[in-house]
Amino acid sequence: MARYTGPKCRYCRAERAKLFLKGSRCLSAKCPMNNPAESGLPGRDPKARAKKPTDYALMLRAKQKLKRIYCMLEKQFKLTFSDASRMPGKTGDNLISLLERRLDNVVFRMHFACSRSQAAQLVSHGHIFVNGKRVNIPSYRVKAGDTIEVSAKGKNMLIIKENLLEVGKSGVMPWLSVDPDNMKGQFITVPERAAVKELEGVNEQLVVELYSR
Ligand code: SF4
Repeated sequence: MARYTGPKCRYCRAERAKLFLKGSRCLSAKCPMNNPAESGLPGRDPKARAKKPTDYALMLRAKQKLKRIYCMLEKQFKLTFSDASRMPGKTGDNLISLLERRLDNVVFRMHFACSRSQAAQLVSHGHIFVNGKRVNIPSYRVKAGDTIEVSAKGKNMLIIKENLLEVGKSGVMPWLSVDPDNMKGQFITVPERAAVKELEGVNEQLVVELYSR
């Protein structure tokens, strides 16, 4: 599985938004986005005047932001978009549904992992079972009704136990149910676009326009 292994904070700086790519560390005071001197565009003189973005730049930023939130590379993201465009209904809504159905995203949302990149690692290391079968493909598409469970070995991992404390603090998304004691959960239904509150600042329509050019 190809994945980005460079500095993640750089992505937040490029998008001028906190993308929460490092789990609980993103909530600490060390997050560069909390410091105006460190939160500027990467590779740009912080004193340089900001240019007015072109229409293309706005579309590109919308696509990059969505792709980076879900920790995907361009090829994977484009393939997901092309699947979304072949489905009935609005392509932008379909794209979000497909992204939400990724196994690494579901593992993250169930709080088995503190970030999507950690979730992808848990999946690729074979710690996740779907409907009783081991699945080690982070992009695997979960279906409504599927059960997701941590492997017997994973159930002894301290990091997963600590991550699951978050279920008691912030709960889980309404389209999921999680039993933290048994490290098991269910993907009840595919969420509607409006239900994915984390993406309120993302305009997926711009992504559709970019790929339709
Ligand atoms: Fe983004 Fe801050 Fe987390 Fe770094 S620590 S990934 S800048 S939210």
